[in-house]
Amino acid sequence: MSEPLLDVRDLERHFDGVKAVDGISFSVAHGEVVSIIGPNGSGKTTTLNLVTGTFRPNSGTIALEGERIERADSARIAEHGIARTFQNGRVFATLSVADNIEVGLHSTLTANRPFRRLSNVFLLRWIPLLAELYIAIVGTPASRREQAEIAAVVESEIDRFEARLGPRRDDPAYSLSYANRRRTEIARALALAPKLLVLDEPTAGMNQSETAEVLEQLLELKAAGQTILLVEHKLDLVMAVSDRVIVMDGGRIIAEGRPDEVRTNAAVVEAYLGR
Ligand code: ADP
Repeated sequence: MSEPLLDVRDLERHFDGVKAVDGISFSVAHGEVVSIIGPNGSGKTTTLNLVTGTFRPNSGTIALEGERIERADSARIAEHGIARTFQNGRVFATLSVADNIEVGLHSTLTANRPFRRLSNVFLLRWIPLLAELYIAIVGTPASRREQAEIAAVVESEIDRFEARLGPRRDDPAYSLSYANRRRTEIARALALAPKLLVLDEPTAGMNQSETAEVLEQLLELKAAGQTILLVEHKLDLVMAVSDRVIVMDGGRIIAEGRPDEVRTNAAVVEAYLGR
């Protein structure tokens, strides 16, 4: 069997005695769409936060293409090829749609620049953060060639959401509809051409037709071979897009399988679907 893209082993994270994630193991193969479902408080978001470096685990390992990343911070993990969106949607309110998409690209572009490497050595994490803030507000030290590449990526991401984001490309994020802010966030993650796209409830707060649109986009990404790790409450969407579904309850994985297997699993119906 070939090496999985993501491999999580015996992962644990406690918060003041609460076992948010209590020894879970799972993997995601290249090109696979894996969803995590479960009742509120079952540890889904904590799992995503561990995989994307927002939190460190108390124990256990996370490997991306065989390389251990469980001690890396979120910036390094993004550079390794994991991009994410957040449960409530996070965009820079005063930046335009295009600039929001561009911000993420600069931080990966500058990843191997000397000041970044030096600051990693000396653990002066505030230097890259200040540099990124400067880039976001003032401009960019990217070369002209890099600038052209960045512009092309931004335009292709806006094109992906043509009808929605196209007319809004220069509008500040605060003026966007909620759904468009979430689309901008997804576009920013996709601009990084991530090996693994991590989505935390991408349709939260969306109406039926907006949700259907997200499903369509996810299916397109899947058809294009994008590997996705998804947390989502809307089960119809989960069942339609996932190759595999992981069911969590109380910080543990209580079931795992194809959508049709999970739907009929007695433990799942008891813990989740039946509620
Ligand atoms: P889900 O995403 O499935 O709703 P979470 O991963 O958000 O579940 O939460 C799992 C458990 O961990 C909950 O009991 C929650 O209160 C707790 N928890 C999550 N994050 C924190 C935190 N930063 N501090 C303290 N407790 C937390």
